[in-house]
Amino acid sequence: MKEYSKTFCVYPWIQQQTTPTGKINFCCISMHTFVPREDGSAMMLDRDSFKEAWNSGYMRDIRKKMIHGDSVFGCETCYEQEKVGKKSYRQCHNEEWSAKLGSDTIEGLVDRSTANDFEVDRPPAYLDLRLGNLCNLKCRMCNPYNSVQIENEWKKLDAKSENRYSKFWNKFGLEFGSCTPWYESENFWKGVEENIPFLKKVYMTGGEPTLIEGNYRFLDRCRELNYADKIELFFNINFTNLKEKFIEQLNEFQWSSVNASLDGHGEVNEYIRAPSRWDVIDKNFRKMAHEGGARLGLGISPVIQIYNILNVVDLLEYAEEVMEETGREIIVDFLFCLHPDFLDIVHLPDNIKHEAIARLEDFKMSSQVYRSQQEKSFFMKNGIDSTIKRLQMSLGQENPQMIRDFLSYTKTLDEERRQDMRASLPELTFLLKEAGYDYDSQVSLLVDQ
Ligand code: SF4
Repeated sequence: MKEYSKTFCVYPWIQQQTTPTGKINFCCISMHTFVPREDGSAMMLDRDSFKEAWNSGYMRDIRKKMIHGDSVFGCETCYEQEKVGKKSYRQCHNEEWSAKLGSDTIEGLVDRSTANDFEVDRPPAYLDLRLGNLCNLKCRMCNPYNSVQIENEWKKLDAKSENRYSKFWNKFGLEFGSCTPWYESENFWKGVEENIPFLKKVYMTGGEPTLIEGNYRFLDRCRELNYADKIELFFNINFTNLKEKFIEQLNEFQWSSVNASLDGHGEVNEYIRAPSRWDVIDKNFRKMAHEGGARLGLGISPVIQIYNILNVVDLLEYAEEVMEETGREIIVDFLFCLHPDFLDIVHLPDNIKHEAIARLEDFKMSSQVYRSQQEKSFFMKNGIDSTIKRLQMSLGQENPQMIRDFLSYTKTLDEERRQDMRASLPELTFLLKEAGYDYDSQVSLLVDQ
């Protein structure tokens, strides 16, 4: 496919996303955007339709900016990835969809749309469904929109502290939000069903997609309407529970990619992704690697953040071990945590960055997958190399306020969840203290400061 511009991404021409709160967005990576009505309020899928959103002024403006090579608000993560040599989502999607639909088809779609004030003349081929925030975990980098556990915890912490917890988050652009059951509305289901005949791919996350009943309803409808074998599925799941019903469905679709949302190995994962248990996750992950059929692709997508930067190597070693044991390819692809800002590794003091770089460099020397020339190792290599580059480029840019915010937030959750960073992440605690950031002397966000 021709490169229309340095910011061109095929998504606004082929994809629509439902947010867990029922808004419509143009990409899941763009976290703080939504398709608005004319009065500026968000379109909501229990009242508005996919169709109205698809060729709204907002969507047409994004397409226009991408054709002209202008930056698009919400696409910062992709631009940041490209800056450090990580293959961006934008680049991956352009490549993936050129292969799926054919370059000619995409160029035809984009050129016709450009000539027609950026309207697109076919419904989306890709639907990203997030049917609510039902989740059993409260991962530290997540938010109330994506997990009802965090929603409940947030309410509790606010009640204990005259809303100090909310005030802290407001500084980082996040407000308390709760989900209504918009995904049960007939308006939404009518819109979804109209899209099914045009779909090539569907992504499901949440919340935790294996727990969300609406996902099973959607998969059932695809089968009843005889489109299942034309549709590829893609999931991010936390592997804390693996229902037979879930595994059975997958075989009827054209292909299923199942990505494990894991951010560490063992206790590190349990600490970040409470209240998960590693022994359960490990059992389920190996089961799927062993028993998943020939139409299954398996992956792991750790979110690289302060909590796991020193230990991500253990997760990489785990992935290699499972690959060797089961003979199944596992794609490991890193995501950089940019929101909330205070979890971003670029803010760390240099002693931790040097240690993290050394550990990743050591892994490169010992890893079979990293050193293999095979295509399957591309994402792991690219993830490691770009993380090292990001750490190197940010040497000397320690941000004391961010680290203090990180520690106050950590302490607040530790007290509420009965966890302890000093016990679960002793090396990080030690190195932070060495650089002048002492966990023990930091106060929780609930205390008046
Ligand atoms: S450029 Fe990146 S953030 Fe923007 S639509 Fe494409 S994938 Fe999403």
